[in-house]
Amino acid sequence: RSKEISGNSYHFFSEEMDNRTFESIKLENDLYKALEQNELVIFYQPQINSKTNSIEGVEALLRWNHPEKGMISPDKFIPIAEETGLIVSIGEWILKEACKQVKAWHDQGYPLISVSVNLSVRQFEQSNLFSIVKNVLNEVGLSPKYIHLELTENLIVKNTELIVETMKQLKGLGISIAIDDFGTGYSSLGYLKNLPISTLKIDKSFIQDMTKDDAAITNTIITLAKNLNLNVIAEGVEKKEQVDFLYARDCYMMQGYFFSRPMIAEDIAQKYFY
Ligand code: C2E
Ligand code: MG
Ligand code: MG
Ligand code: MG
Repeated sequence: RSKEISGNSYHFFSEEMDNRTFESIKLENDLYKALEQNELVIFYQPQINSKTNSIEGVEALLRWNHPEKGMISPDKFIPIAEETGLIVSIGEWILKEACKQVKAWHDQGYPLISVSVNLSVRQFEQSNLFSIVKNVLNEVGLSPKYIHLELTENLIVKNTELIVETMKQLKGLGISIAIDDFGTGYSSLGYLKNLPISTLKIDKSFIQDMTKDDAAITNTIITLAKNLNLNVIAEGVEKKEQVDFLYARDCYMMQGYFFSRPMIAEDIAQKYFY
């Protein structure tokens, strides 16, 4: 840093802020190397049909096994990956790896489960997302009906022609699209009739406490899904009472620690396929 630049302004930064900045710069530098150094790991969390008590799908969740810091959660590094644009290559990697994994399970004669992959806005803003997804499915040889893409409402809010067009193309291929963290965004509900969405994923914040208001919101989302002919899945299900609550309201698809934490692929196979 030159004296001219730092001269007047350095004293605005406390030591703590400087440290944090240093931390995040280091993390950012490390992230550039994470993919090629095989530090990114995919955990899978089962999506359970509580009516049949069987696994119908898994959600692929990214982890970063940092050489010094250990396992880092996506909430800590996805924002950096998004800011730097690294999310585009990381996103393509996880899409392909997750599809390969599920295809391998199918080929081994295990149940024909689906895989849900989270996509960020940045991936949609790259104009070739559709061909990337299509190529991955072709290369891996996985039928589009086994892949679900999870988007959040902040992507819907943008509502650009490119995003809408890409969603329609993906849907046209036979891929289902779920709205993740449903109910926490700032979008109007109108998009549900115009966009090719198959599933609402009830945000875990409504499931966790189940206060009177949370329960009312959860009820409303389930009814909304039913009336619009959409699938609904609850995430963050940790307790038996939550399972019972959802079950009594015909919301059978559930994901959460009550059933299983996210695990590496081998553990999924061990627990569910043997
Ligand atoms: P999400 O897609 O909404 O994923 C659900 C999060 O809830 C996961 O956190 C999961 O581990 C956690 N979870 C599952 N069951 C329970 C439960 O019963 N109780 C509680 N308290 N939590 C539960 P995780 O794995 O830390 O991921 C956080 C977020 O990071 C994800 O939220 C998703 O938005 C993002 N993310 C993860 N992987 C990717 C990825 O490959 N690409 C992108 N763009 N985002 C990702
Ligand atoms: Mg998700
Ligand atoms: Mg979610
Ligand atoms: Mg989330």
